[in-house]
Amino acid sequence: MPANTPYDLIVIGGGLVGGAIAWGAASQGARVALLDEGDVAFRAARGNFGLVWVQSKGAGMPPYAHWTRHSSELWPGLAERLAGTAGIDVALEQPGGLTFCLSDEEFEHRAAMVHRMHNENGDIGTRMLGREEVRSMVSGLGDRVVGAAFCPIDGHASPLYLLRALHSGLQGTGASYLPGRKVDRIDPAPGSFTVHCGPEKFVGAKIVIAAGLGSRDLAPMVGLSMPVTPLQGQIVVTERLPPMLPYVTHVLRQTAEGTVMLGDSQEDVGFDTSTRVSVLKEIAARNTAVFPALKDVTIVRMWAALRVMSPDGYPIYEQSERYPGAFAATCHSGVTLAGAHALALAPAILAGVLPEALAPFSSARFT
Ligand SMILES: Cc1cc2nc3c(=O)[nH]c(=O)nc-3n(C[C@H](O)[C@H](O)[C@H](O)COP(=O)(O)OP(=O)(O)OC[C@H]3O[C@@H](n4cnc5c(N)ncnc54)[C@H](O)[C@@H]3O)c2cc1C
Repeated sequence: MPANTPYDLIVIGGGLVGGAIAWGAASQGARVALLDEGDVAFRAARGNFGLVWVQSKGAGMPPYAHWTRHSSELWPGLAERLAGTAGIDVALEQPGGLTFCLSDEEFEHRAAMVHRMHNENGDIGTRMLGREEVRSMVSGLGDRVVGAAFCPIDGHASPLYLLRALHSGLQGTGASYLPGRKVDRIDPAPGSFTVHCGPEKFVGAKIVIAAGLGSRDLAPMVGLSMPVTPLQGQIVVTERLPPMLPYVTHVLRQTAEGTVMLGDSQEDVGFDTSTRVSVLKEIAARNTAVFPALKDVTIVRMWAALRVMSPDGYPIYEQSERYPGAFAATCHSGVTLAGAHALALAPAILAGVLPEALAPFSSARFT
């Protein structure tokens, strides 16, 4: 579609959040443009861990627990449709997830959290496993593992295949994926938004700001607020190994190719994506305490990437009151929430009304 042709929806930011919304809207027949700055931007979508994780999401925030669970239920349908439309298997598996406990204190703390989440959010099947029970499910555990929390609906997928599938799937519907477009200005007018990328202009009836860490500067142009900041995570990848864990954990998962990914640090270091050996040591220490055999395994890669964090860590979804038709969308779990973003949020944005269930995610909670 040539520039200046009005689109039904312009999505700013081609990461996992923008990609899922754009794909979802394009799948419904909308004329969509997805504008992405490109390799110079900070892109969490290309550096994350790949979990579709439910068990610990939303303690003290039931709407987030329900939204996360809804997304995990929508995920199999999303994976199937991406395989059909983009021809890409995103390697979704939902075998259940374990949070290992390395002391009685950790076990008690986790048990209290599981109990609280059960009371607040309903039963998703999460239960505590004692020393013997967890060993009957997983072999090779170290002596320090005293037990684990197990949630049967946790899973994982390949985040890079997911991103590629969203991009190529939406192009298959006739939508435009336009990389190398840094949005520097948005001019709102009643019923239409003109989005400027240097000398180029794109006009859309609706827009979504889903530009990750770039959203903070764009949102005020259309009366929205997205006060997101970076939180660094470092990930370590091993050589390919024989199957060693039939489940996922929030700090270790084995990919479909056999490599083992280890994480999951949280460092407040601003916009710094350099890796540090001290963080590697902490990641290695915890994971080798759980699986001592990892001590003999070769590390082949490590990297750091920046999470996109709101002040309380929960997503921001909102329609501009001043400029209806402009929406904000950001979260720190874009893999987990891809099902909901593609199959629930995108249709709501096209309809012009966010569901009541998303009202708690307005940025008004920060003021
Ligand atoms: C270490 C780490 C581990 C993680 N693990 C998990 C996990 O296991 N499970 C999970 O669910 N989530 C995980 N996440 C979070 C997940 O990666 C993010 O939630 C998701 O990638 C955020 O997607 P996004 O589209 O909001 O941002 P990004 O992926 O950062 O994409 C933003 C995009 O906006 C573009 N952009 C920025 N400014 C502009 C502009 N002005 N104009 C045009 N385009 C612009 C950029 O080019 C970029 O492509 C992890 C993140 C990190 C860092």
